[in-house]
Amino acid sequence: MNDLIFPGPDTLCEDCGYALKGLRPGGDCPECGLGLAESSPGLRLGPGSRREVELDLVRRPGAFFRAMRVDGSNLPARWFMLKMVLLIGLFWLLWDTVGGYWSLEVDLFEAGVVVVSLYLLSYIEVLGVVYFARRRGWRVPFGLAERLVCYSSIGWIPAAVVMGLALDWYVAGDIDRWMRGLLGVWGTWQSVELLVLVGAVAMLWFELLVWIGVRQTKYANSYCAHSSDGIGTGKSGSVVET
Ligand SMILES: [Zn+2]
Repeated sequence: MNDLIFPGPDTLCEDCGYALKGLRPGGDCPECGLGLAESSPGLRLGPGSRREVELDLVRRPGAFFRAMRVDGSNLPARWFMLKMVLLIGLFWLLWDTVGGYWSLEVDLFEAGVVVVSLYLLSYIEVLGVVYFARRRGWRVPFGLAERLVCYSSIGWIPAAVVMGLALDWYVAGDIDRWMRGLLGVWGTWQSVELLVLVGAVAMLWFELLVWIGVRQTKYANSYCAHSSDGIGTGKSGSVVET
């Protein structure tokens, strides 16, 4: 890690995005009053040990993303997402083997489809974040958006559980039966619509984590000198995360 001048030419106030170049390190942001030290890249040293990542993401995601590095390699984040997604694939694969109670049967191919779908949805999210950030003038290029989404992939776990239950009830015909009992008239296609709706709601924790991540990194500073779009792209190989 090279200790560059702080505030450096690219340093922004982490709260309001004000360019802090040339100001005294001990002073406050002229725009919002936040202490300049609060925007120091020295506060972004995380994540710490790999064991802490899951715990921090669940217990205090805001602090996790506030302390997350925004430079260096994205490899640890990608491994984290791979672990989460494979775990979900395995969970679906084993669904009907538990106690013979469940109706939903997932074979290896279908579990693979789940894994690929989660990757697709995640990278669509990355593109969405980049697009949104660019429009808002936030400093969240592709590499950083990818890192945020990778760590937010822990949010796919509750989504997988909720969707597993919903699909299981659908396959067993329970949803049709319950809704007919409740409303009198209920078409099978309405159950499919309901499943889509449940799926959208089940994604909320993932979406919330991504949103918290963007909020906490939209003006994030790193030690690496970077061009306007170079930050977080993983080009600076000298910094190793975790
Ligand atoms: Zn400020």
